[in-house]
Amino acid sequence: MLDEALKKAVLRSRYLVALCGSGMLKEYGQLSMRDPDRAYEIEKKYGYSPEEMFTSSFYSTRPDRFFEFYRNEILAGEGCPGEAFYHLADLSKCGKLKCVITNNVYSYPEKAGCENVVSLHGDIENNYCPHCKEKYPKEYILASKNAPRCSKCGALLRPGLIFFGQTVDNALMSRATAEVSKADVLLVIGSSLRFEPARQYARYFEGDHLIVINPVSDYSDRQADLVINEPIADTLKKISEWVEEA
Ligand SMILES: [Zn+2]
Repeated sequence: MLDEALKKAVLRSRYLVALCGSGMLKEYGQLSMRDPDRAYEIEKKYGYSPEEMFTSSFYSTRPDRFFEFYRNEILAGEGCPGEAFYHLADLSKCGKLKCVITNNVYSYPEKAGCENVVSLHGDIENNYCPHCKEKYPKEYILASKNAPRCSKCGALLRPGLIFFGQTVDNALMSRATAEVSKADVLLVIGSSLRFEPARQYARYFEGDHLIVINPVSDYSDRQADLVINEPIADTLKKISEWVEEA
C-alpha cells in the first residue's frame, strides 16, 4: 500500500525535491556532532559540549582548542557517501530529482553525483581568511599545528561552516526556500519534521505530497501525507528502480 502510494507520487512528480537530515549518515554509523551520544563523548573528552565549542565566541577566544576540536572531530570525521546518496544521485542524474537540500558538511550528495545541491551549513573545503578572503582546503587546516593562519596576511583562518547559534547564509536560505516552494513532491529524508533542516523548510512546501522517509517514527510525522519508517537506502533504491523502469 505504502509502496504503491510512494511510487505513484514520485512517478507523477514534476518537481521533486529532497530535504536531507543527519539520519542519512546515522544509518551507516556516522554520527553528527549534534547527535546526543556523540555530543556526550565530545564533552567528556574536551570538557565542553559541541554547542559550546563550535561557536563564534569559542573560536575567537580559544582558537587553539577550537581548531583541535575542528580537526579531530569534524575534519577527521569525513567518510564516504553511503549507499543512500548514490541512489539520490541516480535520481538527480536522470533529471527526476531537481534539488537536494542538506545540512551535510562533507559534500556527500555532490561526491555521489547529485546536481543542484544546497549545503545549508557550508562545506569543510571552504575554509577562508576573514581578512583577505583567501580560501584554504581542509588539508591546510589538518596539517597546521594549533590555530592555522593565513599564509598571505597572517590572520586567523575561519571554517566555512556555520557555528552553533549562527543563522544560515541568506543566499542559501533563499535558494532552499525557493526550491521547496517550487516542489510538487517533497521528500524529507533521514529526519522527522521537527528537526532541522526539515522543520524550517518544510513549511514553505505548497505541493501535493510531503513524504517522510526515516527509519525512526515521530509524532511530527503526522503532518506528512505519507510516512515510510523503513531503512533509507532500501527505500531510495526502490524509488530509483521505479523511475528507471518508468
Ligand atoms: Zn589573509
